[in-house]
Amino acid sequence: MVKIAVIGGGAAGMACAVRLARAGREVVLLERGERLGRKLSATGNGQGNVTNLAMDASHYFSDDPEKVGRILSRFSARDAVAFLESMGGVFLPDARGRVYPAGRQASAVTDLFRRELATLRVRVLTGARVTDLSRRGRFTVKFTGGEEAADAVVLAAGGRAAKQFGTDGTAYALAERFGHTVTPTSPVLVQLRCDPAAVRGLKGIRVDAGLRVLRGGRAVYTCRGDVLFTESGISGDAVFRASSHARPSDMVSLDLVPDADTARLERAVGAGEGGLLCIVNNALGRHLFRLAQGDRARVLSLLKAFPLPVTGTLGFDYAQATRGGIPLAELDGHLMSKLCAGLYFAGEIVNVDGECGGYNLHWAFASAHAVGEALS
Ligand SMILES: Cc1cc2nc3c(=O)[nH]c(=O)nc-3n(C[C@H](O)[C@H](O)[C@H](O)COP(=O)(O)OP(=O)(O)OC[C@H]3O[C@@H](n4cnc5c(N)ncnc54)[C@H](O)[C@@H]3O)c2cc1C
Repeated sequence: MVKIAVIGGGAAGMACAVRLARAGREVVLLERGERLGRKLSATGNGQGNVTNLAMDASHYFSDDPEKVGRILSRFSARDAVAFLESMGGVFLPDARGRVYPAGRQASAVTDLFRRELATLRVRVLTGARVTDLSRRGRFTVKFTGGEEAADAVVLAAGGRAAKQFGTDGTAYALAERFGHTVTPTSPVLVQLRCDPAAVRGLKGIRVDAGLRVLRGGRAVYTCRGDVLFTESGISGDAVFRASSHARPSDMVSLDLVPDADTARLERAVGAGEGGLLCIVNNALGRHLFRLAQGDRARVLSLLKAFPLPVTGTLGFDYAQATRGGIPLAELDGHLMSKLCAGLYFAGEIVNVDGECGGYNLHWAFASAHAVGEALS
């Protein structure tokens, strides 16, 4: 029987293992942590945003959008839901098309995988950090505590983001042994750092804002959503989405009152600081008047375009995903290495990252599906 070693027990690795075991393959799943799916259990603020009904390649960043599109065309959001529900549970979209388990508990999604893997009698080795991978005829997978031979290997060891879940970027070296390169990596879906002077005194204030990322004065990204001022910059749903597009030295411009009409705002600002009561947070209103040194036209303009110079991000430790990784150019349409037959890749280790909203987990499942098509 063909034996496949899957390296990494995250969303992509577990999905691969389930698919391959269902197809009758002998599978060994190696995970360096003590438990499977630790990151999956933390997703979506613990609620698990597993996919998005608005699914196409325009929501992804990679070195080959067409290849991403072809993989997604074979695995839609409905397919992701059907796959998850084939293990149990019910998955439902919210008003923005983001799909969650009905019970809104990400750890329960991990439990579905664990139960299915046990039912399929997949050999799961935890505490098994793979340290070396080589091929002479068959593959040899060396890990802390042992060694396994396999006919094919799926490298699903994640990227560099959120190393508390076992992903510190060291697994790229396993691919580099076969001549693979790693495109430059950077953290995405992460808080933005801003000039500290611009956010001083605003920590903890949350606004529903229109957000624009400006580069050289031109808007390169626009969205609307939650923005939370922090000690060092801005966080929140809109900021996470914008972080996929923003670069250091860009400017973020916030419309702090996206639904208010100009005539009412003019009247309010004309009444002085107190006029902004119940229009923006009190402390924010005072901050705007201070910044504008009482100039009411300036307050009005700050309300609609509050400028925040971006200086960077909070970094990989706080990021949800990794930009960069093993380039698609080095992989075929089923994510098999063009440099080493039988070596496959799935999930975040590949140079594909999605926008906020379920796109990264979808990629984990869709890439596992692509690998499964080839190896089944
Ligand atoms: C806090 C947080 C919230 C998120 N929320 C969402 C969300 O709601 N929706 C969404 O779509 N995406 C979300 N993401 C992103 C998403 O979780 C990841 O993109 C996705 O889990 C990647 O899956 P993966 O299997 O490729 O990698 P991972 O889930 O990172 O799994 C890789 C596994 O490989 C193991 N590993 C690494 N090296 C080795 C080795 N040498 N040997 C053996 N094992 C190894 C790691 O321990 C890890 O368990 C979130 C991420 C974070 C951090």
